[in-house]
Amino acid sequence: MDVEKSYWFTQFEELGDWLAERASRSRRPARVFTIGKTASGRDIPAIEIGDGPMHRPVIIAAQHGTELAGTNGCLAAIDTLLHDQSPTDENITGWADKILKACTVRFVPLVNIDCAIRFRQHVPTCDYSDAYGTGEEEWERYAGDYNEPRYFLEKQGIQTPRYGFTPEQMEQWRRHSGRGPGFRYNDRGDDLYFDYKTFRAPETQAIRDFLKQVAPNAVLELHNHEHPSRVFAPVVGTTTEHGLMQLAYGEEMMTRLFERGLPGSKHSVRTYTYYTSDDYLQFPEYVYQHVTPMIVFAEITTGYLNDYLRKAMHDDPMNRRDIDCPTVTRPQRILTSWSWIHTFLDLGVARNFQ
Ligand SMILES: [Zn+2]
Repeated sequence: MDVEKSYWFTQFEELGDWLAERASRSRRPARVFTIGKTASGRDIPAIEIGDGPMHRPVIIAAQHGTELAGTNGCLAAIDTLLHDQSPTDENITGWADKILKACTVRFVPLVNIDCAIRFRQHVPTCDYSDAYGTGEEEWERYAGDYNEPRYFLEKQGIQTPRYGFTPEQMEQWRRHSGRGPGFRYNDRGDDLYFDYKTFRAPETQAIRDFLKQVAPNAVLELHNHEHPSRVFAPVVGTTTEHGLMQLAYGEEMMTRLFERGLPGSKHSVRTYTYYTSDDYLQFPEYVYQHVTPMIVFAEITTGYLNDYLRKAMHDDPMNRRDIDCPTVTRPQRILTSWSWIHTFLDLGVARNFQ
């Protein structure tokens, strides 16, 4: 199978149609629906596969709209569950039936679709490596494109909340730059990942209501990052028991990734402790507190491992083992994402998502 051709998907406006077409050809129960609308009024598509009565896992990707390897892996996994397609060419006969006998699986493959469309205007291939070079200036240009207007406002001494920008701040940025916000944000300047206390964004409201309705017993959330692919036991405030459970899923997801010959972080699965604050909740914390303790958060590498970042990683004990990670191809990124979804469901059914 040509994995890149099949799943390096950039026709974001057609995602709902893509899902509906796949669902209509499957002999298995499947339903395509929308969970709500984006800030610019686009539908956010989702799919429900199977009718297994025991478990309700949910897989969510691309709350940051440029982080599309999660989306691509979801599409590959959806094909596996609907049509027994194996993107790695390994024999998976009977696997989808086994999973769907126990589970009703739901995917939200691309939450921040507005941002994905803005990203495609900026980088038509939707691959950072095609748009940014390896030096320090290129890194800064990349960080600016991702985070602005944060730096623009901070230079003027204006404090910005981690979950985004006020309408006035956005207006100031638009007047200055003539552009929308950076790729971390939705079209109104909200960082969805950090918006689970504030719920300023229609996208996070939609996810919240969807999770409330489904009451999943397991959630996998997928992101991309510059660093080598890695999984987190994501919840800082978890009990020992829940922390060990999250860790076990993360370790197995990494082990099977290596068994499939795919590159990833040589560091252990770690906790996610960045930016703890009373002002906002990050998505995994929200899920832990309000939905289910079975939450795993994973980052597929973007393949854009800039020299400047490698140097910084060399001086960081949490990253130093990874400085030699090779460039990861697009098919490998898709397969990483697929492999993690596969392991999450496989181990989940084997262990009752505990
Ligand atoms: Zn992200």
